[in-house]
Amino acid sequence: MTKTALVTGSSRGIGRGIALALGSEGYHVVVNYSGSEDKANSVVEEIENAGGSAESYQCHVEIYDDVKAMIKHITGTHGSIDLVVNNAGVTKDGLLMRMKEADFDRVIDVNLKGTYNVIQNVSRPMLKQKSGKIINISSIVASLGNAGQANYVASKAGIDGLTRSVARELAPKGITVNAIAPGFIESEMTDVLSDEIKEGMLGQIPLNHFGGVEDISNTVTFLASDKADYITGQTIHVNGGMYMG
Ligand code: NDP
Repeated sequence: MTKTALVTGSSRGIGRGIALALGSEGYHVVVNYSGSEDKANSVVEEIENAGGSAESYQCHVEIYDDVKAMIKHITGTHGSIDLVVNNAGVTKDGLLMRMKEADFDRVIDVNLKGTYNVIQNVSRPMLKQKSGKIINISSIVASLGNAGQANYVASKAGIDGLTRSVARELAPKGITVNAIAPGFIESEMTDVLSDEIKEGMLGQIPLNHFGGVEDISNTVTFLASDKADYITGQTIHVNGGMYMG
């Protein structure tokens, strides 16, 4: 039977790469997005053109009832939900002294509350199935801290803690919950950084190059596979040695 995977925020960037990789692994992929309908549809098209199966689904992950409806749609249509990758994320950077309350709230809402909304709603069907894998996309900065990103770092550190707690709760039913903490991965989110910041970052990466989307999608396909059945509650760092736990 075809397994079903939901990848939040997979119209672009890392999420897109994860969706394509899972499509080629034989999953039916639900390509979630918030605003980029055309981009989400072209990810679906790419998966289908490669012989896979996918659909797009618009849903703002920070809205609990919309997430609930999305999960209900997936389980109702496909009978099960086998894998969830909580990838949707936003930044609203600024030094704490100048950070607007709305910018703090927005980043926590999408990144952390959005992850909770999805996990909370997939837990029930996964517990019923007695199987499932949940992978949350965290960040290296959750471990390092980062000036100008207090909201983002707090959201990602929250995701790491959420991962460990939910992993303990769902482990008795064979469901694994892990996080992946990417380092500096080339994407639209990092394209906006100045050359000066990028050069500074490169100097801190022992492997001496930025990561690619496939470095993250390869880790996702491993954690999603039965080769990773004994791994749960972990944050896997993929960062070229920039942070060594
Ligand atoms: P991008 O900005 O390139 O893509 C973000 C994705 O999230 C888009 O598909 C976007 O959809 C979606 N999204 C944004 N807001 C929402 C929302 N409210 N509801 C649903 N989907 C939403 O980001 P990246 O690919 O760079 O990052 C992906 C993840 O990896 C994030 O969680 C990020 O924090 C994390 N990460 C990235 C690193 C990097 O170096 N790039 C480093 C460490 C972590 P739409 O197109 O519709 O707006």
